[in-house]
Amino acid sequence: MDFLISKDQIMLKNEIIDFAKNHLNDSKYIETFSMEMWKEICNLGLLGVTISEEYGGLGESYLTAALMFEGLGYACKNNGFIFVVNNHIWVSQNLIYLYGSKELKEKYLKKMVAGEKIGAIAITEAEAGSDAMSMTTHAEDKGDYYVLNGTKMFISNGPIADIFIVFAVTSEGTFKRYTAFVVEKNFEGFQVCEDIKKMGLGACPTSEIVLNNCIVPKENVLGTFNMGANIMTAALEWERCYEFAPHVGVMQRIMERCLEHVNNRKQFNRLIGENQSISHKIADMQVSIELSRLMLYKIAWLKDQGKSAFMDASIFKLYVSENYIKTCRDALQIFGAYGYTKDYEIERELRDALACSIYSGTNEMQKNTIYNMIRSRAL
Ligand SMILES: Cc1cc2nc3c(=O)[nH]c(=O)nc-3n(C[C@H](O)[C@H](O)[C@H](O)COP(=O)(O)OP(=O)(O)OC[C@H]3O[C@@H](n4cnc5c(N)ncnc54)[C@H](O)[C@@H]3O)c2cc1C
Repeated sequence: MDFLISKDQIMLKNEIIDFAKNHLNDSKYIETFSMEMWKEICNLGLLGVTISEEYGGLGESYLTAALMFEGLGYACKNNGFIFVVNNHIWVSQNLIYLYGSKELKEKYLKKMVAGEKIGAIAITEAEAGSDAMSMTTHAEDKGDYYVLNGTKMFISNGPIADIFIVFAVTSEGTFKRYTAFVVEKNFEGFQVCEDIKKMGLGACPTSEIVLNNCIVPKENVLGTFNMGANIMTAALEWERCYEFAPHVGVMQRIMERCLEHVNNRKQFNRLIGENQSISHKIADMQVSIELSRLMLYKIAWLKDQGKSAFMDASIFKLYVSENYIKTCRDALQIFGAYGYTKDYEIERELRDALACSIYSGTNEMQKNTIYNMIRSRAL
C-alpha cells in the first residue's frame, strides 16, 4: 500500500470544504431536496470527479475522490443532499461509465456528469431486501426490446431521478440470472410513486417505482445480458466505499463541535470535558475517525490499482456505520438537553446516521459477507 497524499489533493479537498460551507448549507433545504443546490454542485464539476475528460469529467483518481467526499461530509451539514449526490454518482452514473457500451455512454454520460439527468439504482423489492437475489422483477425478450414487470422499493432519488439502473431476472431455472437495464423515467410503463417519508435524510427523496409492461430498448442492457449479478456486486462495493466516505468527514465535524462544547460548558464549577466519562467519548470519536480514514484511503488506493476491494468495503461500511451512529449518540449525550432540541441539529445528525446501518446491505449482512469471505479463503 502506498497512498501518500499530495499537496494538490489536499488543496482539492480544501476547495470542496470552502465550497460546501458557502453553498450547500442553506437551512431551508436541510430536510428537503433543493434543485438550487443541485445546480451549484453541477457547476463545481464534482459529479464527474473520476470520469474521464472525454465525457466531461475531471479524470481524478479514486484516492482524490475519497478525500473530496470526506471534505464534502465535513463541510456540508445536509447529509440527505450528499446522499442524493452519491447515489447519482457511484451507483448510477459510475456503472454506465464502467459497464456501458459506447452508445450508452454517448447517450447518457455527458448529461449525467453535467447533472442535467439525475441517476438512481433499483435493486430492492418489498419481499427482497437483504435477500436481493430473490427479486421477482423480470424482463422478457420481445425481439427488438425487453418488457420489464415488477416493483422496486426504497429507491433513493426515485422522485427526482431521470435514469434508473434496474436489476431484473432474465433467466429462471437452476441458476437464476439477472440483467441490469438502463431505464429512463419517460419509458412507456414506468411509474414513480409518492415520496416515502423517512425518519432522516429528508433532502433525499425516496420512492417505490413500478414497471408495468415497461418497454426497454435492447441497447439499454448494461454490460452483458444475464451478467447483472456481477454489476450488482460491483455497485455495492462502490456504494460501501464512497457513500460512507462523507461519514468520516461528518464524524470529524461532530467531534469538533463536541470538543468546543465540552471546553465551554461548565457544571459543578468545572468544564464538563474534565470528566473522563465525557472526554473518553471524544477520544473514541477520534479513534473512529482515524481508523475509518485509513480504511477509506486503502480502498481508494486498491480501486486506483484496479483491484477488488469487496471485503475491505464491507469492513469499512460496517465499521464506519457503527461508529458514525455511536458518534452521534455520544454527541447527543455530551450536549445534554440542548442536543435533544432541534436548534442544535444533533438530533437530526443522529436520525440521518441511523439509516446507514441498513442501506447498502445491513450491518448483519456485512458480517455474513466478511465471515463467508475469510472462511472461503481458509478452506
Ligand atoms: C435510506 C435508505 C435508502 C435506500 N436506498 C435504496 C436504493 O437506492 N436502491 C435500492 O435498491 N434499495 C435501497 N434501500 C433498501 C436497502 O438496500 C434495504 O433496506 C436493505 O438491503 C435491507 O432490506 P430490508 O429493509 O428489506 O430488511 P430485511 O432484509 O427484511 O432485514 C430485516 C432485518 O433482518 C436481518 N437479516 C435478514 N437476513 C439476515 C441474515 N441472513 N442474517 C442476519 N440477519 C439478517 C437484517 O440485517 C435486518 O436487521 C435503501 C434503504 C434505506 C434505509
